[in-house]
Amino acid sequence: MKAQRYIVGNWKMNGTRAMLNEARAIDRAAARLPKVQVAVAPPGTLIFRTRDAVEIIGVGGQDCHVEESGAFTGDISAAMLKDAGADFTIVGHSERRALHAESDAVVKAKAETALAAGLSVIVCVGETEAQRDAGKAEAVVAAQIEGSVPRSEAAAEKLSVAYEPVWAIGTGRVPSTDDVAKMHAKIRESLVGIYGDAGAAVRILYGGSVKAENAAELLAVDEVGGALVGGASLSAESFLAIVGAAASLDES
Ligand code: PEP
Repeated sequence: MKAQRYIVGNWKMNGTRAMLNEARAIDRAAARLPKVQVAVAPPGTLIFRTRDAVEIIGVGGQDCHVEESGAFTGDISAAMLKDAGADFTIVGHSERRALHAESDAVVKAKAETALAAGLSVIVCVGETEAQRDAGKAEAVVAAQIEGSVPRSEAAAEKLSVAYEPVWAIGTGRVPSTDDVAKMHAKIRESLVGIYGDAGAAVRILYGGSVKAENAAELLAVDEVGGALVGGASLSAESFLAIVGAAASLDES
């Protein structure tokens, strides 16, 4: 049986309590679309309230610290996310890698800490425009996978990988479906190399300017198991159009 497509909204540093209405609307619609797994990653301040406001959808963090607790002003640990009601966390988003200088080793340590805390993990990878122009996109992403995914026992079961070309995030630009297919095939190869058979079941999400207009086409690409959505996840209407596209594919 084909795994449910997984559509995850990354709200980034957006949202105050008023956004809970969007979460509730997403949740109500998701209840009618059981073939799609839906989740949102609100800012840390809203995780507890979002968990309380919804019944069906997953709720996650956008990052976590590698330590469980301690003198790390401003940081949130995986154990705290779990305690606040999170089911998963994103790690290694390109904004964290670029703006907080997170290396593959740091991303991997975060992913391992998150798993140990009982969370599922979405590890993000993706090349910059300069790397793609230099013909290095696949090599860069393969190296990120090798360096960033957790190796703990049974990690593969709780892992998703999000391929997010940096140049496609928030820009309205998307790679061709051919390029997405090539990259996802390459990521699959890396995951099977690392986890063996279990690597075949890890969901590989595409992220980068996914919208209602391009969702069906991107989600239909081989090895695209879902989408990580930024801007279009900030309103229930635009996010649900993407969830709806995933649901229609599963019906076809
Ligand atoms: C993201 O930042 O994870 C993302 C995919 O953003 P957007 O959908 O806005 O490009």
